[in-house]
Amino acid sequence: MSDLKEYKCPACGGSVEFDSHSQKMKCPYCDTEFELDTLKAYDEQLEKEAEQKDDISGWQTDAGSEWQEGETEGMNVYTCKSCGGEIIAHENTGASNCPFCGNPVIMTEKFSGALRPDLVIPFKLDKKAAKEAYYKHIKGKKLLPKVFRKENHIDEIKGVYVPFWLFDADVDANARYKATKVRVWSDSDYDYTETSYYSVERAGNMAFAAVPVDGSSSMADDLMESIEPFKLKDAVDFQTAYLSGYLADKYDVTSEETVQRAHERMKRSAEEVLADTVKGYATVTPENTNVKVSGGAAKYALYPVWILNTTWKDKKYIFAMNGQTGKMTGDLPIDNGTYVKWLAGLTAVFSVIAYLAVWLIY
Ligand SMILES: [Zn+2]
Ligand SMILES: [Zn+2]
Repeated sequence: MSDLKEYKCPACGGSVEFDSHSQKMKCPYCDTEFELDTLKAYDEQLEKEAEQKDDISGWQTDAGSEWQEGETEGMNVYTCKSCGGEIIAHENTGASNCPFCGNPVIMTEKFSGALRPDLVIPFKLDKKAAKEAYYKHIKGKKLLPKVFRKENHIDEIKGVYVPFWLFDADVDANARYKATKVRVWSDSDYDYTETSYYSVERAGNMAFAAVPVDGSSSMADDLMESIEPFKLKDAVDFQTAYLSGYLADKYDVTSEETVQRAHERMKRSAEEVLADTVKGYATVTPENTNVKVSGGAAKYALYPVWILNTTWKDKKYIFAMNGQTGKMTGDLPIDNGTYVKWLAGLTAVFSVIAYLAVWLIY
């Protein structure tokens, strides 16, 4: 009985043919030999994978709750006309400048609607600690423009609660890798290299707890991710009292809209965990991963962040610090005027070294 099905070579993608000489399946392009059963199993695996799709239907997104009556009393929404950012502050705290871009904000409405957070991680590090961290961050940066050092500017650093959606989920993950092992040997006439190709499969079940995705478009996702992790052990049930003296960023990305991102974060982690178990090969190339989530549930939490925005030559520079752990991030520009001066100084040092070198040689 002949098998008319065409198989693709897992090594190079060419069409595999039956080789009567070796009585095996052989790829005429790369000369790799296969057992028919191996090819069949591989082919079935590919077909199975083609049917699988990431499934995000299992996610539950009903995070947050309703505010109780009187709870939002005295809380106002301030809007930035420049970047569109919306922040919430108690009238006693007030807000004058946008924490995201530094431009003036105006009070636009009494805070109402939106969801009540489930959890809050209260600020552990106060403004003094935030300013100290900032000074440390800019310390020794000789080329920094002056505006970044001005005391009255640094005083603008703001404590902002950033909204996060936290996702719990059980994840079923499977992955397939193309891997190779290489054997090299010689006899008196030739050097031989034998490359064996493996299709490696891994599958596992993982439980994720409180994977955070920020619910604010004002805060850049990569910026927030760079000051993670926030430790959930300090989270407490939300009370309005925690907001006093601080600003709260009003979420503008709903939990439904962040599901895809949460899914991707878990998928990435699952891939890393599975890939870590593929050992002992010369090369490993991921070919396919599938992640199925079940029992995904969400919570709405506020995380504490210290933010300082500086505009220099029409560009925004943001410094952010995790208000719980002190982990910080921030990019700083180089002032070209200062750079030239600094370079001049550097050249002088170089010539001294060159002189010494010459002196040592002769
Ligand atoms: Zn081939
Ligand atoms: Zn703004």
